[in-house]
Amino acid sequence: MSARDSGALAESLDSAFAGMTPLDRLRLLAERVKGRLVFTTSFGLEDQMLTHLVFANALPIEVVTLDTGRLFPETYALWRRTEETYGRRIRAKYPRGESLEALIEDQGIDGFYFGADMRKACCFARKVEPLSRALSGASGWVTGLRADQSANRHTMAFVAFDAAHGLIKANPLLDWSREAIRRFAEAEGLPVNPLHDRGFLSIGCAPCTRAVKPGEDERAGRWWWEAEGKKECGLHTVEGASASALNLAEGA
Ligand code: SF4
Repeated sequence: MSARDSGALAESLDSAFAGMTPLDRLRLLAERVKGRLVFTTSFGLEDQMLTHLVFANALPIEVVTLDTGRLFPETYALWRRTEETYGRRIRAKYPRGESLEALIEDQGIDGFYFGADMRKACCFARKVEPLSRALSGASGWVTGLRADQSANRHTMAFVAFDAAHGLIKANPLLDWSREAIRRFAEAEGLPVNPLHDRGFLSIGCAPCTRAVKPGEDERAGRWWWEAEGKKECGLHTVEGASASALNLAEGA
C-alpha cells in the first residue's frame, strides 16, 4: 500500500476510533489493515491491558517486546508471568551485539548519566534500532500510548501514518486514563508490575527509572536528570500523519 493510501486509511480509522471500545478498535485494525500488525509492549499497565485484549480474543496481532538488557527484575518476572497466563510467547528483539560492544567501549557501562548525547546513543542501540527490526515489513504498529501521559502526547491522533517506519500507527488507549486502565486490570485480574505500587508509574530501564513523588508528572521518573522536553527515548518521535510527511514519503 502506498504512503498516500496508508495515510487515507489512517485518517478513516482515526475518525472511526472515536466512541469505540479498545477491543473494537483492535478488531477494526485487524480487519482493515492488510498485512502484519505488531503491538510493542514494555509490560506497563496499558501494555498489559492491550496484551490481554489481543491474547484473550485471539486477535491476529503480534506481541513483541524490546529487551534492552537493562530492565528491572520485576519486569522480566512479569514477562514470564504474562506468557504463563495466556500460554503464548512474547517475541523479543535485542540490541545488535556489535552495536552494544561499541557503545560500552565508547561510553562505559552507565554512560547515559553523563550527557544527553550518550543517553540517546544508548536508547538508539538498545531500543530504536531493535524497534525498526521489529516493525520491518509490518503494515501496522499498535502502542499503549495515552494522551495524558505527557504534554507532547496531547496532540496525538488515535491513528496516523508513521512516515519514519512507513506504516499505520494506532494508539487504541489514547483517550483512556491511567485510573480507568488500573480499574480494568484489577477487574480482569491482569498480571501487572508490582513496581507500580511502589510509585513507579512509567517503567523503562532500571537505571533510568525512579519512583515518582506525590503530585509529580507520571513520566517524571524517566531520565529524571535530563531537562523537560528531552525525555523521550526516540521510539515515538514521529506521531503525526501530516500532509507534508505524506508528500515527502510519496516523493522519496
Ligand atoms: Fe539505555 Fe537508559 Fe535508554 Fe535504557 S532507558 S536504553 S539504559 S539510556
